[in-house]
Amino acid sequence: MALVVVVGAGFSGAVAARELAEAGHRVVLAERRDHLGGNAYDERDAAGVLVHRYGPHIFHTQAPPVWDYLSRFTAWRPYEHRVLASVGGQLLPLPINRTTINRLYGWDLSEEDVRRYLQRVRVDRKPLRTSEDVVLSRVGQDLADRFFRGYTLKQWNRELSDLAPGVAGRIPVRVTEDDRYFEDQYQAMPRDGYAALFRRLVDHPAIAVGLGVEGLDLPERRQAALVVYTGPLDAYFGHGLGRLPYRSIRFEHQHLPGVPLVQPVATVNYPGPEPYTRITEFKHLTGQRHSGTSIVREYPTGTGDPYYPVPGPESDLLARRYRALAARESGVVFLGRLAQYRYLNMDQAVAAALVASKRMVRNLG
Ligand code: FAD
Ligand code: UDP
Repeated sequence: MALVVVVGAGFSGAVAARELAEAGHRVVLAERRDHLGGNAYDERDAAGVLVHRYGPHIFHTQAPPVWDYLSRFTAWRPYEHRVLASVGGQLLPLPINRTTINRLYGWDLSEEDVRRYLQRVRVDRKPLRTSEDVVLSRVGQDLADRFFRGYTLKQWNRELSDLAPGVAGRIPVRVTEDDRYFEDQYQAMPRDGYAALFRRLVDHPAIAVGLGVEGLDLPERRQAALVVYTGPLDAYFGHGLGRLPYRSIRFEHQHLPGVPLVQPVATVNYPGPEPYTRITEFKHLTGQRHSGTSIVREYPTGTGDPYYPVPGPESDLLARRYRALAARESGVVFLGRLAQYRYLNMDQAVAAALVASKRMVRNLG
């Protein structure tokens, strides 16, 4: 039985802690915030509406092992996410689909017509080196300008052409009327919320949780056979090679008393001049009944908590140099969205933590 220190209690850290504890090791799980769950944390606001403190988190995955694993710690509420974009005074489905194009231009195109239209306006870009290449090659100039350019500039403070292809590549384009945001086989919300899921995940006699604890300052680090670090990669090395860019967001929460629902779907995106990127209304996600409603506006910013790694050529280069340092750091495993500097969804973070935990258990013997 070894002692393992896990730094950070988001999905990456909490799953690793559980797996190591179940394998018979003693785990100290240190989280600097005053709650579990990392950025997926949810809580009731002053009016009693369940909200996500760090912006909307919708669970979706294609991976049965991830689904089965988390299902040990939560029941689910079936939920398919839908997003409308506020463009030209209309609310139009995103991802762009047949309805989006017909409503935007006042047409009545069939699926086949839409396919032909996209074929005509699509810009041939090969290889696909940037998010601009991806968007232009999927939907052409006009739709790229209306739906992607402004939103991306606000979200990242970078042009589409300065971002890796995978960023805007997350959003598909469809010729059908399918208006779901995700196409994954499993789409759901934890029935009792994320905080409850995390409480069950770390509820194990071999896990000692410390909230409000700086993981890297823990005295137990010296006795630990292994440290699992899920904080920002550059922070671990005291930013010695320079700062990795992480994009932050200011979340402006608001409760609207006496308003049952304020918008038709959970999230409305604003690619236009508004200073925020999107507004999410939580009751759509949770199905909660309440006489009022609660929303959050997201204002992207360069300062504040690190939320998004910024995938682009220079940051990739710097991240690679930090990863080389990390690989030489014996007895430490770097895991998760911040420590791996990868734009991971929750299910990908869980999958990576499960794989890494198997390897750690094997190595601990
Ligand atoms: P985190 O959740 O960031 O957890 C890391 C934890 O480590 C934090 O709690 C931090 O406080 C702690 N920590 C860091 N350094 C230290 C230290 N030195 N000592 C102690 N503690 C430390 N994914 C989806 O699948 N669906 C979505 O809809 C979705 N929406 C998102 C919306 C927003 C606005 C954001 C920002 C992300 C979204 N994600 C979504 C991604 C999701 O948040 C991540 O996949 C997930 O949080 C990754 O978990 P993690 O444990 O790697 O990192
Ligand atoms: N995007 C956009 N317009 C939109 C939605 C997304 O330009 O209305 C681009 C933008 O660059 C964004 C990326 O696509 O960062 C990925 O969007 P997603 O909704 O997956 O972002 P997340 O939920 O991770 O913030």
